[in-house]
Amino acid sequence: MRKNIVAGNWKMNNDLAMTESLITELKKQSQTSNAEVMIAPTFTNLWHAFEALRQSNIEVIAQNMHFAESGAYTGEISADMLKSVGVQTVILGHSERRAYFNETDDLLAKKVDAALKNNMRVIFCFGEELADRKSGKEETVVEAQIKHALFHLQADAFKHIILAYEPVWAIGTGETASPEQAQDMHAFIRKTLSKKYGDETANTVSILYGGSVKPGNAKEIFSKPDVDGGLIGGAALNAEDFYSIVNAF
Ligand code: PGA
Repeated sequence: MRKNIVAGNWKMNNDLAMTESLITELKKQSQTSNAEVMIAPTFTNLWHAFEALRQSNIEVIAQNMHFAESGAYTGEISADMLKSVGVQTVILGHSERRAYFNETDDLLAKKVDAALKNNMRVIFCFGEELADRKSGKEETVVEAQIKHALFHLQADAFKHIILAYEPVWAIGTGETASPEQAQDMHAFIRKTLSKKYGDETANTVSILYGGSVKPGNAKEIFSKPDVDGGLIGGAALNAEDFYSIVNAF
């Protein structure tokens, strides 16, 4: 069966003191669902978060990484560096990385390869922009993103891949895809995987939805058969809100 996953993407929020206090609040929450829980603090706070959450079931993950193993890449972070501070999972391809840092599917394919070579798990993000949806191209865009960044992989690699469908128009806007829109796209994504890799692979990959998931809409979104969890931005910065989403399964 597929894993249910709720991952909090903290983005460029929370300095060390704020990270400490949010983690303290997170540890006070109780979990009633079976979801795997992850948080992605910024690079400088990963080690602290990892240490503080050692005894918990919250996994600390990273928001990005570089594809090279080491060397002259000023300002970048490698897979080895992440692993050395306890990180086993990395978010790649977030729409903010694509939009503000020019990350393309070609580049992302290299990052995915580097993560897998290092035995890390990847949360691979993709999703259409508003103009794509308005012109009815959302499926074409999503299919192209997945194909270009992932379809060079063998079926086995998908054991280490989590997909996150995040329509760009729904991120941080308060605008959520309706549960039906999310389900339709998730079913399309699974069909796309199935055509290339077969049903067994397609049915075991977790597909998360991201974009303005809140305590008030999580239950309905997560109730859809092809939605296996969420990638949460804004609502992950408040421990109670985040856990009411974690417990929405
Ligand atoms: P949001 O962000 O929940 O604030 O819309 C989601 C994301 O960017 O992963």
